[in-house]
Amino acid sequence: MLKLSFKPYDLRLNHVFRISRGARSNAPIILTRLTYEGVEGFGEGSMPPLYGETPASAVQFLSKVDLSGFKTPFDAEEILGYIDALAPGNAAAKASVDIALHDLIGKLLHLPVHQYFGLPAAKHHTSMTVTIDSPEAMAKRAQEFAAFKYLKIKLGTANDRQIIEAIRTVSSQPFFIDANQGWNQKEDALDFIHWLKEQNTVFIEQPMLKEDKDGQAWLAARSPLPIIGDEGVQRLESIKEAANLYHGINIKLVKSTGLREGLKMAITAKALGMKVMLGCMSETSCGISAAAQLGALADWVDLDGNLDTSNDPYQGVTVNQGLLALTGLPGIGLTHADWDEIQSIAP
Ligand code: MG
Repeated sequence: MLKLSFKPYDLRLNHVFRISRGARSNAPIILTRLTYEGVEGFGEGSMPPLYGETPASAVQFLSKVDLSGFKTPFDAEEILGYIDALAPGNAAAKASVDIALHDLIGKLLHLPVHQYFGLPAAKHHTSMTVTIDSPEAMAKRAQEFAAFKYLKIKLGTANDRQIIEAIRTVSSQPFFIDANQGWNQKEDALDFIHWLKEQNTVFIEQPMLKEDKDGQAWLAARSPLPIIGDEGVQRLESIKEAANLYHGINIKLVKSTGLREGLKMAITAKALGMKVMLGCMSETSCGISAAAQLGALADWVDLDGNLDTSNDPYQGVTVNQGLLALTGLPGIGLTHADWDEIQSIAP
């Protein structure tokens, strides 16, 4: 019999995480476990306050889940279809079940999830994120991340140019730029993107408000750098429209409702000629190890959400000199997971 357990958890960050739309020093999370014939699968859904879900909404959603009608975890398509139909929204809560289910299936099959999906083990350098602060403070943070191949720079401030100039005095690492919808004037944004290209920038993430589709389409038609949709691209159904607005998509499991739809999103985006980026929220090693299973389909990877936390209850993928390494273990590949030792923490 399939049995679902869940615990709200509060992931603590070592540094304040500030973007153009807010700041936080913790991340409310729902942790899940699915058991079947003595085997455990682990999942997670991170719920930063900006996105509408809370530990209370996740607990309410997961309390409605009744898996007694499913005889085996291998009916993943049916099980996850049932979960998705329980209520609209709740993408992170749904992801927490999806990830646990895939971890469980992988363990029962003695296969890493990427192999179950027919994907090779990918080797990617993850970017490390420098969040918004004074230009001097951001340059100092960039220096701390000198071992990483890529830096992801959060912008969308009144002094974006000074920030880049300050960081370039200490670092020549290529930049992923994330404006988090912080640029309002498309002409100014285009000028700035031309300048950022000269500053060794790889791509631009979510420059304009997600609602400004005309502005975004205008910018994408002219930008000398790829533009990646994040806030403007949530689930599979949004990709068709996104193909007219962005050159690529940032897939996050907490948006896609987990690995199964995340896989479909990556395949669909590639079929449409779009770039694929794998991203994350502030998450434990559970969510990060799960997302890394899709690495073979990604052009770029930003899976650093577990690296600056102080109470990650799991161990899984490792990062050395920025290189993200899968563990090769079955399921999502956790090397440490002890459900009973995890103390539920209300945010
Ligand atoms: Mg983003």
